[in-house]
Amino acid sequence: MRKSVEDDLKAIGAGLDVDVLPTVFNRGVIRPDTSLVILKPSGQEKADARQQSTRSATRPWERPARGQGTSGQSGAPGSGAPFVQPGLRSLYAECVGECRDAYPGLLAYPQERQMWLYVESDLIGGLSRRAAFVVQLPYNISRPVRAWGFWTTAVSKAWIGPRHTNFPDGSICAFEPRDETWCPGDSVTLLLDLYSLWAVRHLYFEKYGKWPGRQSVPLPAERLLELGDDEYCGCDIPLGTYAECCKSSDQANTSGSDLLHFMMKMRAPPEEVTRFVWNPTAPPRRRGKTTCQT
Ligand SMILES: [Zn+2]
Repeated sequence: MRKSVEDDLKAIGAGLDVDVLPTVFNRGVIRPDTSLVILKPSGQEKADARQQSTRSATRPWERPARGQGTSGQSGAPGSGAPFVQPGLRSLYAECVGECRDAYPGLLAYPQERQMWLYVESDLIGGLSRRAAFVVQLPYNISRPVRAWGFWTTAVSKAWIGPRHTNFPDGSICAFEPRDETWCPGDSVTLLLDLYSLWAVRHLYFEKYGKWPGRQSVPLPAERLLELGDDEYCGCDIPLGTYAECCKSSDQANTSGSDLLHFMMKMRAPPEEVTRFVWNPTAPPRRRGKTTCQT
């Protein structure tokens, strides 16, 4: 890893650890930020996110990204809505142009019931690989958006996970749905920015062995197996690092079978998604069989 990339990555991680979010620029380039966007407790984040998500007159399409989580899908629950909501379909269709400005090369495939996107993100200038995202945007708010991340080079595609991905399909968990950071019908560019930030956190984790910044990890077994002592605790009301907060109570209250149960749960992207990443001109033609949500 080039020194300039490492310096940026280190600064981004250090910022996230003190609740300072980096800025996402065109092509998904993420730079350590000096604007000091301070995360608020859950519930206040939505209003702040919307206030900050505006175009800048002086800088190119600059958008702060939000915090992220692990537990849920990025969508609103519900039932009884018609399978296809035409308003959502036209909203996403209108979004595509704006998204291509922010993420040049984006490929969009509108289908009868959903839109598939293939998009690549630079993350940090000089990085020797890019993050590719496959995004499935259903035209129905009761079906959550799903997306998958892959490290991509000219000759390789490698799924990004398993930290902060969903069971069992390995889709991205880039934010805590309860915070309503992104909801169906919101800006797709903002969604891609959130995925870019998620990928850069993975890059930091790969390099330094520590997930940077706040995280949502509600299951004690998952915390015990995946969280480092010096990472933020992933419980609802974190009181500092995992070692300072829930580690000892998790150890006391988690059985061997709880741990085994968690370890046996596999996360992997559906085959149709992996095929799409290797051949982005051929989107999945129908909903895959591995679509159950957790
Ligand atoms: Zn805790």
